[in-house]
Amino acid sequence: MESIKRNVLLNPGPSTTTDTVKFAQVIPDICPREREFGGLMKGLREDLVKIVHGDTEKYTSVLFCGSGTINIDAAINSLLPKDRKALIVNNGAYSARAVEICQYYGLDYIDLQFPVDRQPDLNKVEEALKDNPDVALVHTTHNETGTGILNPIGEIGDLAHKYGAVFTVDTTSTYAMRPIDIEKENIDFCMASAQKGLAAFTGLSFIVGNREIIERSAAYPRRSYYCNLFMQYDFFERTGEMHFTPPVQTIYAVIQAIKEYWSEGEEAKWARHTRVFNAINEGLEELGFRQVIRPEWRAGLVSSALYPDDPNWSFENIHDYCYERGFTIYPGKISAANTFRLCALGAIDENDIRDFFAVFREALASCKVQMPVIYKD
Ligand SMILES: *Cc1c(COP(=O)(O)O)cnc(C)c1O
Repeated sequence: MESIKRNVLLNPGPSTTTDTVKFAQVIPDICPREREFGGLMKGLREDLVKIVHGDTEKYTSVLFCGSGTINIDAAINSLLPKDRKALIVNNGAYSARAVEICQYYGLDYIDLQFPVDRQPDLNKVEEALKDNPDVALVHTTHNETGTGILNPIGEIGDLAHKYGAVFTVDTTSTYAMRPIDIEKENIDFCMASAQKGLAAFTGLSFIVGNREIIERSAAYPRRSYYCNLFMQYDFFERTGEMHFTPPVQTIYAVIQAIKEYWSEGEEAKWARHTRVFNAINEGLEELGFRQVIRPEWRAGLVSSALYPDDPNWSFENIHDYCYERGFTIYPGKISAANTFRLCALGAIDENDIRDFFAVFREALASCKVQMPVIYKD
């Protein structure tokens, strides 16, 4: 096999993949309605539940063809009963996306906002639930990828259940990286996309969740045709297939990625991501960069650094210098501050981060940015 140029992606997904995952897509053409293909889906759906330690009787996974946002859309529009309210615990860009989904479907919702650099105040979450007995769904984001903050999902889920609501969590940027136990963390539904923690490709997204609640949701309003959770689940259960055409080649790559996930092991993989994350933080610290999220609140996968107050700093120029040398860095997602992000997703290790910082220092030097970097106050 020819070798493919290896790029180190430090953006928050899609992430760097192994060559074995890349080549797994190259297969003889196959119609996804063939039995041979259908057979692959059953094992895949079970593996996706097992990755979050779910019992495959109680929990199931439902696949969609799309990027990760399709999961947030499907979960919220499908799991809210008629005349009930959604509570979005919102401290960042991805929970804000869930709020927009509520708006687009004309759903009743509460946008419970917290600052982007702080964990949500659980007392306020409980107050909102107490004051609004019609809340039937609580949603939040595990790792707010815009900043890298970790949200206390176990505690929020516990509150949701205490007040009789279903708990949906956007785990797109933790799933298959930071270990998750669906039942112990009070999650009814979590979700992810093949191109993030699994280090496969864009095109396949999935919701892992409680079978009984999905079955109950058959009676809820059908607000979307393509993105209805029950409809997709029901079709799988009856036929073993996705309702509409699946991303065939991506599915072969995901199956290979899951093989590699099991052979590396949950613990070893998380230890590797942690090594990478620590190397990123050390590199940033040595250069004097300030970060948005305090160390004890970081989810361990995304570093969010503030632009220095140096007239020569140009994210674009530094990005381009690194990009030409095989390293991709990414702008931030906070409206109130200028930040950039370095992420520990994907098939990379700490030596890649050492190589990156050598190039990053060259980039800063070539732009004549002062090192260590400077801030006004
Ligand atoms: C990447 C990501 C998504 C999906 O975003 P797309 O733009 O649809 O790829 C959703 N939630 C979180 C937390 C993410 O990190």
